[in-house]
Amino acid sequence: MLRLGLSIVVFLLPMAMGLWVAKRSYQDDLFLRSESAATRSMQFFESLISYAEDANLNALPLLNGSCVQALPTLRELAAFQAFLRSVNLVKDGEIVCSSLVGPTEDHNTRVLNSRWVWLEQGSWVRPGVPILVVYAERGRDGVRTVIDAEAISFMLQFTDPLVDTQFHVGDNWLGANWVLTHVPPASPERTYYEAYSQRYPVSVYASVSDAAPWLAVWEARQRVLSVLLGVSMILAGGVYWFMGQPRSLYGELVRGLRTREFVPYLQPIIDWHSEHVVGAEVLMRWQHPSGELIRPDLFIPQAEASGLIGTMTVQLMEMVGEALERDLTRLPKGFYVSFNISAHHCKDDVLLYECRRFLNRFPLGAVRLSLELTERELFIDDAHSNTLFKQLDELGVRLAIDDFGTGHSNFSYLQRFHIHVLKIDKSFVSLIGKESLSGHIVENIIDLANRLELCVVAEGVETREQVEYLAARGVSMMQGYLYGKPEPLETFIESHAPSEKGRNGSAETAA
Ligand code: C2E
Ligand code: CA
Ligand code: CA
Repeated sequence: MLRLGLSIVVFLLPMAMGLWVAKRSYQDDLFLRSESAATRSMQFFESLISYAEDANLNALPLLNGSCVQALPTLRELAAFQAFLRSVNLVKDGEIVCSSLVGPTEDHNTRVLNSRWVWLEQGSWVRPGVPILVVYAERGRDGVRTVIDAEAISFMLQFTDPLVDTQFHVGDNWLGANWVLTHVPPASPERTYYEAYSQRYPVSVYASVSDAAPWLAVWEARQRVLSVLLGVSMILAGGVYWFMGQPRSLYGELVRGLRTREFVPYLQPIIDWHSEHVVGAEVLMRWQHPSGELIRPDLFIPQAEASGLIGTMTVQLMEMVGEALERDLTRLPKGFYVSFNISAHHCKDDVLLYECRRFLNRFPLGAVRLSLELTERELFIDDAHSNTLFKQLDELGVRLAIDDFGTGHSNFSYLQRFHIHVLKIDKSFVSLIGKESLSGHIVENIIDLANRLELCVVAEGVETREQVEYLAARGVSMMQGYLYGKPEPLETFIESHAPSEKGRNGSAETAA
């Protein structure tokens, strides 16, 4: 779940950031495009107006003569300058002579506005068709040159298909659709740029929708976003893959220790005379966060090799100690608990200290402690080990040789290390009645134990036949699936809590 979640975040985060950056840069782009459209069309409009101004200047002296005299020059001025529709002489607020028709007495040619540059909604020649007027004043008279607003609208249309441009004079706005309005085009969610003329009282307003749809951003930045999509997918896939990789076992063990994932399972040890539980062997299990319960043989060797086994056993002893302390009244007096230890534990005094701590939890003799050392591991026969085992012996800790018969211990070895118990390995017990050689080995172990006055525990007892065989040769302590499998601490006491009668000393008498 965490793995998938993290991968999705790793995928979405760069994508979201990339889209955001792409949108920002797209908007910057749009702004530059509006700026360029407005500036370019403004250059054109300034040229237009300057043509009209030239015409006005040339026509001003004509005000002195008659219209008939002025007409050829007026026509020439209008014809020679591009985009000019007409050049008109104004006297006393009225057009008296036009390059289009000559004298204009027959028309209503009152001039309503005599500003320098002005947009008008049509003229007496084509009412309703907007025109741009450029006026040159001389007292009450003047020259009025009319520019075709179609030229302006065409220019506005072809600047940039994405940009919406308007030509602005005073409180008039002319759009690419030839429509003249008094309403400014400002709308808050639009990126806009207004280019003001340095020479004339006009400006060009260019705007682009700011709320550019994501699809437009995608189209505008397709290549960059495709690369980003690929990179995000690779990153997310990498995270998903990496998180699915098994960590190094050592790292996992350290983590497991920190989160107390190594838990004790208890397997009962039975006195076959009374059929009562007199003790339990503590077997470690790894309760992995994946939900799996990992067998000890899959991680104990690495735990031993790395030295982590010491801390793991300390945790196990603490957990068992705490639980038994809580349920002490339900245990038979002298109930013994057996922990597996390895050679590593014999290097210092931590084991001695932990055993003392464990026993100190209980009233004297209420719980007994046993340590199982596998015979296959060679115990270092040095002064420290000798002293340690002696001190453990004095503390009342019983030492058992585990898997007896599979290793290389000899008579003197058993005597020197103050051994109390021999555990017959389940590989021999399982062959009882099936194979004569293992029968001999079992008998030899029992014989050796009797001569050394050691207690024998048979491990891996699964059938009645094995019980009878072992009991007939004097083995009274049995451990195996016949009596109970290893189970969690909490349920062990529930399933094996002895009766009132059992609590009165069965463990002590049996062991
Ligand atoms: P072991 O000390 O010889 O433990 C006996 C093993 O035999 C246990 O396996 C137990 O579950 C299994 N067993 C008991 N009765 C029967 C039976 O009737 N039939 C069968 N088929 N098996 C039975 P487990 O728990 O898997 O432990 C394996 C080994 O891991 C142990 O062998 C011991 O050497 C090691 N181990 C377990 N816990 C610890 C620990 O806390 N510390 C250390 N150092 N080693 C541990
Ligand atoms: Ca054992
Ligand atoms: Ca064994």
